[in-house]
Amino acid sequence: MRVAMISEHASPLAVLGGEDAGGQNTHVAELAAALAAAGHEVRVYTRRDSVALPVTVRADDGYHVVHVPAGPAEPVGKDTLLPYMPAFGEWLARQWRAEWTPEVAHAHFWMSGLAALAAGRRTGVPVVLTYHALGVVKKRHQGDQDTSPPGRIDYERALGVAVDRVIVQSRDEVRELVATGVPRSRMTVIPSGVNLRTFTPVGPVAARDPDRPRVLTVGRLVERKGFHEVIRALPAVPDAECVVVGGPPAGLVDDDPQARRLRALAASCGVADRVRLVGAVPREEMGAWYRSADVLVAAPWYEPFGLTPLEGMACGVPVVGSAVGGIVDTVVDGLTGDLVPPRDPAALGATLRRLLADRDRRFAYAMAALERARNRYSWERTAAQLVDVYAAVRRPTRVVA
Ligand code: UDP
Repeated sequence: MRVAMISEHASPLAVLGGEDAGGQNTHVAELAAALAAAGHEVRVYTRRDSVALPVTVRADDGYHVVHVPAGPAEPVGKDTLLPYMPAFGEWLARQWRAEWTPEVAHAHFWMSGLAALAAGRRTGVPVVLTYHALGVVKKRHQGDQDTSPPGRIDYERALGVAVDRVIVQSRDEVRELVATGVPRSRMTVIPSGVNLRTFTPVGPVAARDPDRPRVLTVGRLVERKGFHEVIRALPAVPDAECVVVGGPPAGLVDDDPQARRLRALAASCGVADRVRLVGAVPREEMGAWYRSADVLVAAPWYEPFGLTPLEGMACGVPVVGSAVGGIVDTVVDGLTGDLVPPRDPAALGATLRRLLADRDRRFAYAMAALERARNRYSWERTAAQLVDVYAAVRRPTRVVA
């Protein structure tokens, strides 16, 4: 099948860990690779954000990345990209008419949905949408700090009704979308996957002190990822070190304002010597960091899906996660890890302390976590389920003048 993936701000080729580069980039890269490996022809359309980028790049994993000229050829924060979406959509429509016509377009994030729908309407290409994150949830948690463009929530609702199929990643997202006004009948639940070749229990291990329990936490250095809460929990967890992976590259992490706030908090909690900010780690080295941990903590305030818990599980690491969003589906409380309320350092600290003191429980969680990741969350499985959706919405393509 010819599949167009549209991911306006999140390129599958980007370096991860920065403010706008995380799970969606991984998702698009892994999904494109899994579809290509299954024999499908995949082109990923992302915004050209550097003059150095060629129009088309062939990724090592057998798919193509097309850099769409829409807006300035320089980095632009995702919350200011909306004005460029009409140009993005027009460019796609021209390409799909003149050069290569996909049988289905799979848009990632609402803004990509707008561009894909505009192009789809002109070319007859059906559109499937994965939101990745919902404006209504972001607004609830971030209030005035939410920098999303005005109208995001209305656009998301309208897209849910207009596209051919909505792909939802968790039960929580179903609930949120139904409450927003998107009919359940328009949705298919297909979770993200995890790369089971990259994330394995056996392999290189990042250097660590064998006498000091390691609590690892991973993500973009943004407030809602809950790193503050992890540091606040640390005084209740004797001896443990907290390693934070993500943010700017290693040499630049000390200048990051969020990193500075985390360090100041660690100092005021009396745990400065037990907190280490590693900075961004390349995707291929992430497994070594997960394997070095006794426990992976994912303590976000909210989380649309959350790839890092799954990656840790696939490496055989028990997870302590906030009981929010997709984490409630991936982490089974009391079986593969522990779920704690979000923004509750006391509960997090008590849970970590108990788990780090109980080797048998950690081992049982690790085994169950590994089995769950392997049985349910391969990208091959995610891709196969999506191909069924693509086939269901596919129609004879008709170029509209
Ligand atoms: N990641 C990475 N290097 C880093 C930090 C994160 O490769 O230094 C990857 C991580 O392995 C995961 C993704 O970025 O694949 C983060 O996805 P998640 O869904 O946890 O969070 P999001 O960024 O989407 O909020």
